[in-house]
Amino acid sequence: MKLETDSDELSRRDELLQQAAETARKYVQGIGKRRVSPTERDLENLGKFREPFPNAPGDPAEIFKKLDEIGSPATMATTGGRYFGFVNGGTLPASLAANWLAGAWDQNAALRVMSPVAAELEEVVLGWVCEALGLPQGCEGGLVTCATTANFAALAAARHALLARAGWNVADDGMFGAPPLDVVVGDEVHASILKALSLAGFGKKRLTRVEADDQGRMRPDKLPRLNERSILCIQAGNVNTGAFDPAAEICALAREQGAWVHVDGAFGLWAAVSPKFSHLTKGFEQADSWATDAHKWPNVNYDSGIVLVKDGRALRSAMAISAAYLEGSGRREPMYHSPESSRRARGVDLWAGLKSLGREGLSSLIERTCEHAKTFAEGFRRAGFEVLNDVVINQVLVSFGSAEITEKVIRAVQRDGTCWCGGTVWQGKSAMRVSVSSWATTEADVELSLETILRLAREVRA
Ligand SMILES: *Cc1c(COP(=O)(O)O)cnc(C)c1O
Repeated sequence: MKLETDSDELSRRDELLQQAAETARKYVQGIGKRRVSPTERDLENLGKFREPFPNAPGDPAEIFKKLDEIGSPATMATTGGRYFGFVNGGTLPASLAANWLAGAWDQNAALRVMSPVAAELEEVVLGWVCEALGLPQGCEGGLVTCATTANFAALAAARHALLARAGWNVADDGMFGAPPLDVVVGDEVHASILKALSLAGFGKKRLTRVEADDQGRMRPDKLPRLNERSILCIQAGNVNTGAFDPAAEICALAREQGAWVHVDGAFGLWAAVSPKFSHLTKGFEQADSWATDAHKWPNVNYDSGIVLVKDGRALRSAMAISAAYLEGSGRREPMYHSPESSRRARGVDLWAGLKSLGREGLSSLIERTCEHAKTFAEGFRRAGFEVLNDVVINQVLVSFGSAEITEKVIRAVQRDGTCWCGGTVWQGKSAMRVSVSSWATTEADVELSLETILRLAREVRA
């Protein structure tokens, strides 16, 4: 086989990729030294992206340069050590490197025939995650965008299984006229479950809410009667407090009554890996389905959501698709396990990230971030501010006084740029939320951030 090659084209492409790698490398190297949030000017500069769709082709090198000049300063420095917003980790070096190569591969991970390597790594990774989280052997799962989609996929599987048991094929006949299913959630349910319920045709309001305690844990004594047409959603790691529902007790009750238990464990489930924190996740393995994110605590790059279902048939039936040209290979097919068809090869970055950590690395990442959270909480208390939650894992809620003062402090922290924390309302009280989720956070980052927050809080109150 003799191929013609355009050597000019080849060398231009090579230069572009060199430039890209070098630019990205500089960004990564400089992240600890820059402010976390962009400046006002950086944000204004984003306006330079606003132009009509160009008529003429552009030069890739120029395009890349523009992207870096305008785009890089307007990022949030989430991969540095002082971003404490939401529950966002920052990509592990191994995941980032794998992601670069995977970008070059540009695989469609829908079917094994489209990408043997993507299908293979996806299978490997799902097995590892199951094992790491202590979930039943034989669970099946899918790699999806995020916990919201994972919740959706799991609820679709639950819906399929419970209605099938009632003699109804929801995939063919839909929800109209189907035997009713009851959905039960805790009062501090994450909004993504509600969105997933609405997507799955249950309705956000057509559900029973179970009273939660002051940490947001579902109270088992307040559970309604369940039956084989009930879906009960519990939580491993409340997004505000980090609290875990008492899963062992709840799952035992639900099982007796034949209900399907779904676990939203977007970040909290990973505590299972640490011997120090695994007591918190006890009982969650008794559930029927789980949603989690590897882009949160495990620090794999976006997007890395994971759905796992004990009865794999339920997931596969709910996600089934049929067309002659989409026939499977007889082995596990990625797109038969998730709502998406064409998608990126998520298994690649997940494989590299999890392999680079191993059980010990993941456990120490979890323990380290929890330790940092404790340092924050102690610092806030020592300065006389109220910490609103029991700091059981990596989440801290702090109030600086009234809602108005707390919100002013949050704005001041975000404007200052040394670190970044978001706001929330916890059971009626405004709070700043500190989530220590990044592998990159050091003791020095915590010290500097704490000092800055306390200084700004004192200034606001003065
Ligand atoms: C973050 C989070 C979600 C949503 O995660 P996405 O990946 O953003 O969809 C759902 N549930 C809990 C408990 C979370 O912390």
